Amino acid sequence: MTRSFWQRRHQVADRVADVAIVGGGIIGCATAFWLHRLCPHLRLILLEARALAEGASGRNAGFILPGASADFLKDCSRYGEARTRRLWQFTRENRNLLLRELDPAAFDWEDSGALIVAGSAEEEKRLQEAVALLRSDGIPVIFLTAAEVNRRLQARGYRGGLYLPEGGCLDPVALVRHLAARSEATVLTHHPVLALSPCSGGVLLETPYGVVRAGQVLLALNAYLPRLLPETAAYVRPVRAQMLATEPARPRWVPCPVYSHDGFFYLRQLSDGTLLVGGARHLHLEEEVGYEDVTTEALQADLERYLHAYFPQSEGLQVHCRWSGTMGFSPDGLPVVSQISGLDGSYWAAGFTGHGMGYGFRMGRLLAELLLGRPCPEGYDLFACNGRPAFTLETTP
Ligand SMILES: Cc1cc2nc3c(=O)[nH]c(=O)nc-3n(C[C@H](O)[C@H](O)[C@H](O)COP(=O)(O)OP(=O)(O)OC[C@H]3O[C@@H](n4cnc5c(N)ncnc54)[C@H](O)[C@@H]3O)c2cc1C
Repeated sequence: MTRSFWQRRHQVADRVADVAIVGGGIIGCATAFWLHRLCPHLRLILLEARALAEGASGRNAGFILPGASADFLKDCSRYGEARTRRLWQFTRENRNLLLRELDPAAFDWEDSGALIVAGSAEEEKRLQEAVALLRSDGIPVIFLTAAEVNRRLQARGYRGGLYLPEGGCLDPVALVRHLAARSEATVLTHHPVLALSPCSGGVLLETPYGVVRAGQVLLALNAYLPRLLPETAAYVRPVRAQMLATEPARPRWVPCPVYSHDGFFYLRQLSDGTLLVGGARHLHLEEEVGYEDVTTEALQADLERYLHAYFPQSEGLQVHCRWSGTMGFSPDGLPVVSQISGLDGSYWAAGFTGHGMGYGFRMGRLLAELLLGRPCPEGYDLFACNGRPAFTLETTP
């Protein structure tokens, strides 16, 4: 690649910041927001390889759900009850902070609640059993029978499930842009960071257009992190997810986000009637890995089959848009946060495993507190890298 005289003349050579944030998704932008909120005089630079929200943060369903999987008992069997309760509180705080600290209208927040619907009799039993535990933690929840679920959704064939009034959904691109604007960071899009190295006073970040010197750095690169820090491949792997959007359907059948079959299918309907459907990855596990941004006929056909099976009235709707996104999966399904070795006071955060919107805004505060030198901010022990399982050559996400 060559660069012209003019491009060089206007390049951002030798910028200086107190904190450089790399990655313009929900995690990077939320951290920039909180750094500015907690310490307004900091000079912040946010570097993004493409455009803001060009990665998973701009390709998701926009569901804001609690916990690691929105299934309390499943989380308990994986992480233990005490840790699960704290994870759920962390994600509840995420939602509460979004509504308290920001202008929800700026990202089309829908305070609709969310339905977690079972795909099997066993899942239905598990969801029902979670009700008492959730209520004992102050989490509002209602168990709905299959008939009640289908009536609410004007659907047929769904099993029973949970209605979580605190769930909701939003426009993820609008949220990321809102956070970046509110952070007052200098945002450098189309600036991939190519390398990091220690320098006097902090870190040197190399981009194709010049270097940035910063006191500290946060890498919020999701699945792309191992490309910059190869040793992190033990904690994050790329996994593909696909979605589709139909033409607007009237009237609106689906009043809130629906997360079904252990989260392997998800669906919502926008106020203009557009249906968004995603999932089916469990039917194509071998293919749905890696960084390639493509859709596949077979998986897209499964999404349409799901839609038509539960909403026969959707037969004949045109699909207006199909897309994929790259998620960063961690070995145990929880986000991972770590110091960057050799760079004092600098961190990476990745591995949000398909739930980054549910954690992101609260996680931004945690990361900002770490960057500001607070030794053990609330929640850090839930996500700290030390002692956590790592991927081996054989493990598949
Ligand atoms: C189809 C789909 C549906 C999903 N649905 C939901 C949902 O409904 N709810 C939910 O909670 N989660 C959902 N997720 C997961 C969620 O989107 C992610 O967990 C979250 O967006 C991760 O945010 P991030 O900021 O870590 O990563 P990203 O949004 O991927 O941001 C990382 C950024 O880093 C940039 N970058 C990479 N390398 C470099 C470099 N060298 N220099 C500079 N920049 C670089 C990338 O361009 C990218 O913009 C979904 C994901 C997908 C793909």
